[in-house]
Amino acid sequence: MLSLFWQFYLVFFLITILILFSMPLLGVIDISLPDVMLTYYPHLLILLFLEGVLAFVFQALVQKPLSYIRHFLTGKDSASLKIEKYALRPDEIGALAATAKKNATQADEIIADLISQQRYLASILENLNDGICIVDRHGVVRIVNQATKRMFNIPERAVSGQTLVETIRHYKVQELWQECQQKKIQLIMQLETSMNRNYLQCIATPLEPYSEGNILFLFQDITRLHQLEVVRRDFVSNVSHELRTPLTSLKLITETLSDGAMDDPPAQQRFLAQMEKEIDNLTQLVQELLELSRIESGLVPLQKKIIDPCTLLESAANRMQVQAERAGLHFSWDCSEKLPSIMIDEARLEQVLINLIHNAIKFTLPGGNIHVSAVQQAGTIVFAVQDTGIGIPQKDIDRIFERFYKTDRSRSKSGTGLGLSIARHLVQAHQGKIWVESVVNQGSTFYFSIPISH
Ligand code: ADP
Repeated sequence: MLSLFWQFYLVFFLITILILFSMPLLGVIDISLPDVMLTYYPHLLILLFLEGVLAFVFQALVQKPLSYIRHFLTGKDSASLKIEKYALRPDEIGALAATAKKNATQADEIIADLISQQRYLASILENLNDGICIVDRHGVVRIVNQATKRMFNIPERAVSGQTLVETIRHYKVQELWQECQQKKIQLIMQLETSMNRNYLQCIATPLEPYSEGNILFLFQDITRLHQLEVVRRDFVSNVSHELRTPLTSLKLITETLSDGAMDDPPAQQRFLAQMEKEIDNLTQLVQELLELSRIESGLVPLQKKIIDPCTLLESAANRMQVQAERAGLHFSWDCSEKLPSIMIDEARLEQVLINLIHNAIKFTLPGGNIHVSAVQQAGTIVFAVQDTGIGIPQKDIDRIFERFYKTDRSRSKSGTGLGLSIARHLVQAHQGKIWVESVVNQGSTFYFSIPISH
């Protein structure tokens, strides 16, 4: 195609030839056409030269701005300054430059908007706690977020573009994808990851009709729910187990009594005493269960007051002294230091101390020692109940504060296995900590710390 310069030039040239030819024909001049050419050839040359200049000027006025507008629209930054200038022109070129400028500005705004929306969505996706993964019809992973990588231990460098099998190394996910591809309906499945042993709920949804063949996976970590479910099942079986022993015993006693023991007064007395003990055990179990459930559900409001730690310790020790001595134990306590006050629910923490002393009495053989003390340590008051009893095996130490947990050696003793669990809840409600140090056959020391109130 001819450039604008030559197009203009050709038009001017044709007009000139037309005028020249028409002059003799119209009778403007009285000579023949060849004579015209011979007579006026110097003028003709000047005319052709002037036409060239004119074509050049026209080309500069029209072609240059058009070429800048084209460059501008194809995204060349260098053209934008010129466009500003051309947009001021009052003619068609000016209007075109202004429109190009306006459209380019709008396009820039739309692109910036899209980029910011894309970043926004990407940051939501990356910060979601749930895992998201999109797989196309060929099994290639298109999108995979941080949570999915965390859940399946996918290395950081593994990016979208790999297949599902390469990315998520779990056969169940692969099976779910295949089934969802075939059935084209939402499918839900639970699985356990091999590395972290986490429980995940996977929801596979076909992204029809907009992204045909693509499947969206949502991975939710339900480990905590799963644990709660296990705890609930354990709890029910523990409660049933704890109830079964006294109930079986009561049943046996009543059967023995009705089988004739009623007529034997000493045996009758023994059985009645045994019944009373079993009923006491049942009552204690029910009370402690209720107490634990109330504390756990936050239904026990703490009545906190400023208390001197030694007053608390002495009150609990005084209450337990007789019981300890009756069990043939040496019982002592020490709170000689002047300790700073603590902000506590006195009755509740006394209950904790009594619980610990009661255990010490229960698990120490006659002739043994129990010592209760309180000292100041790193911004806290640490209470300690030390005994020279049967001790706790190392394997049980971490579990001793769980509900219903009892060591094998203590199974024969009465008790529900709930006391330490209640104690831990009460100490934690005071922002404190409870722990134990123990050596089998040498004794145990239970500690709990309470922050000093300022
Ligand atoms: P229980 O009513 O059975 O005493 P706890 O929750 O108070 O329930 O205690 C749980 C278990 O911890 C006990 O059954 C026992 O095995 C162990 N235990 C607690 N205190 C002591 C202690 N001072 N010496 C040895 N074992 C203890």
